Amino acid sequence: MLLGVIADDLTGATDVALMLSREGMRVVQTVGVPQSADSLPDADAVVVSLKSRTNPPEEAISWSLAACDALLGAGAQQILFKYCSTFDSTDKGNIGPVTDALMQRLGVEYTIACPAFPANGRSVYQGHLFVGAQLLSDSPMKDHPLTPMRESNLVNVLQPQSKHAIGLVPFSVVEQGAEAVRAAFQALAAKGPAIGVADAVTNQHLRTLGKAFAGHALLTGGSGIALGLPDNFRAAGLLQSQRREAGFAAPKGHAAILAGSCSAATRGQVADAKAKGIETFEIDAVALAEKRLSAETVLAWASSRLGAKPVLIYSTAEPEIVRQIQDRFGRDAAGAMVEHCLADVAKGLTAQGVTRLVVAGGETSGAVVTALGISMLEIGPEIDPGVPWTLAADGKRIALALKSGNFGTPDFFTKSLVMLEDTQR
Ligand code: ADP
Repeated sequence: MLLGVIADDLTGATDVALMLSREGMRVVQTVGVPQSADSLPDADAVVVSLKSRTNPPEEAISWSLAACDALLGAGAQQILFKYCSTFDSTDKGNIGPVTDALMQRLGVEYTIACPAFPANGRSVYQGHLFVGAQLLSDSPMKDHPLTPMRESNLVNVLQPQSKHAIGLVPFSVVEQGAEAVRAAFQALAAKGPAIGVADAVTNQHLRTLGKAFAGHALLTGGSGIALGLPDNFRAAGLLQSQRREAGFAAPKGHAAILAGSCSAATRGQVADAKAKGIETFEIDAVALAEKRLSAETVLAWASSRLGAKPVLIYSTAEPEIVRQIQDRFGRDAAGAMVEHCLADVAKGLTAQGVTRLVVAGGETSGAVVTALGISMLEIGPEIDPGVPWTLAADGKRIALALKSGNFGTPDFFTKSLVMLEDTQR
């Protein structure tokens, strides 16, 4: 293994795995804290997906260190800590605490923090994170229920989370190339351990930053920061493969779409699928709570409809409806109830012959993959920026598209399944 990645959520892990795969690495994604180094697969890069974004910092640190130890034990020469491209975190963590702990474990004096992902509109300029044309603090992330982001200057966001000095490696330095970037990071760490927030508004900036960190034990960032890393290993003669689209063949069988995300993009995708005449079942969270609806009801509905066309099962609702449900049952309880239902539905659907599953929502994807008992994913072709098809890599016959709520074009559901039509196996 050349590169070990620790990702703080499942769809984010898939996103970075896709990036590395497209740049020519053999990548496998694993789910959950690895048991040991021996439990990790043989690949150029292994991406360990945790669910540690909003947990108590101590838990996030201990899981991340366990993942780091397993990756190092399996031969990783470099560790990347991957988080969201909108820098989802609070003053308590978990980006700072996990970065500090990994710096100590790996014995590095400095590391980088760069969530930029220009293909998805995330750029960093003078330390400020933009989402499209808006500052992070003006974007919908300001109202995120768990990690509201109301400060765009990442130096200010990270400082209260870390015990180290936080500095800026600005655009003007990144433009000068990898040597200048390396010198800037060394200067930041001259007086003690430091984390440098680095500017990047183009893929070329990300490649420069990646090159500057060749041979350095630790990087942190969004999936974009992985862009330049495979070339480092290639330049060192350690990686033979070239950039390519991975060969991919989905198992033959029925297709279904499960949407548990209520984000704007997913709401649009549900509406688009309905307009295209796809048969849909709406999971009403109130009916679920009052036990008038269960996974069995949904599965009975699906059994007579699975066939040539996909079905769509969704709990996706407008913010006002979600708010009412959360007020009545509590935010976490409502979320868990819907996640459990969708996970049970996923399990039942595979028993009914579904082998192609599109899932919308980060938490929802985590619940579904866990319920299906999938511990490893192989990365396939890209559907939209940051979202690939994946194949269960531990003997289960299923292809999965796991979509972070806000990703994907309006026709994502139909487009993703059409992509598989010529890839039977
Ligand atoms: P996203 O990627 O858009 O954040 P997630 O799946 O991560 O999507 O999170 C959505 C959360 O909202 C999940 O916990 C899900 O169970 C919950 N949820 C989905 N539908 C509803 C609903 N109708 N009412 C309340 N909560 C819901």
